[in-house]
Amino acid sequence: MSSFSIDTAKAWMQAYAQVLEENKEYLTELDSAIGDADHGTNMARGMNAAVEPANLDQPDLATLFKKVGLALVSKVGGTAGPLYGTFFMRAAKETGDAGSLDAAGLSRVLHAGLQGVLDRGKAELQDKTMVDAMTPALEAFDAVAATGLTAAATAAGKAARAGAEATTPLLARKGRASYLGERSVGHQDPGATSSAYLFETLAKVVS
Ligand code: ADP
Ligand code: MG
Repeated sequence: MSSFSIDTAKAWMQAYAQVLEENKEYLTELDSAIGDADHGTNMARGMNAAVEPANLDQPDLATLFKKVGLALVSKVGGTAGPLYGTFFMRAAKETGDAGSLDAAGLSRVLHAGLQGVLDRGKAELQDKTMVDAMTPALEAFDAVAATGLTAAATAAGKAARAGAEATTPLLARKGRASYLGERSVGHQDPGATSSAYLFETLAKVVS
């Protein structure tokens, strides 16, 4: 596939909602170790709302991303919902009136989303958050973007997964997990894990 269209975006959001639904117990289990055991249920609830027809059935990419972002902000309590919501709302803004995106265009849109998460959450790399999956995902995406969307998204999915796994030995410095101090070490971060699913499902729908 050479371009990321509204149909690709819809398929991505549906795939993400489905994977979150299938893995919500696992995500909540991760959050029970270093948080308050709600990340899986939070994210599944938010994305299930995001893919309801009233949100999903949009004619253009920017409106779709905006609706998804708004659904996440309004349906997901806690920290991650507003952060993912900001990701999609910033992505919407960057998308503008583009009817479809090539790899370079999607890179700009995803970077705008990540910048929104950084602006709002103020996390740095290795703080043991979703940023630790998103940042390497976008680096990997950009490294092969010239060879096309499929290669870029595939690389991003793998890098996001590796980034999520690499959060295990880290000490949490942001969010609820940071209250645990040293006890946060040895557990994979739930938000980084839900971000791995985000990029893995992107890889799946563009390949
Ligand atoms: P809460 O911690 O409010 O219960 P969730 O359990 O839904 O919210 O989400 C927790 C996840 O949010 C963490 O695993 C982490 O990845 C992410 N997170 C927390 N604080 C930040 C932050 N400041 N910046 C980026 N991500 C964060
Ligand atoms: Mg939680």
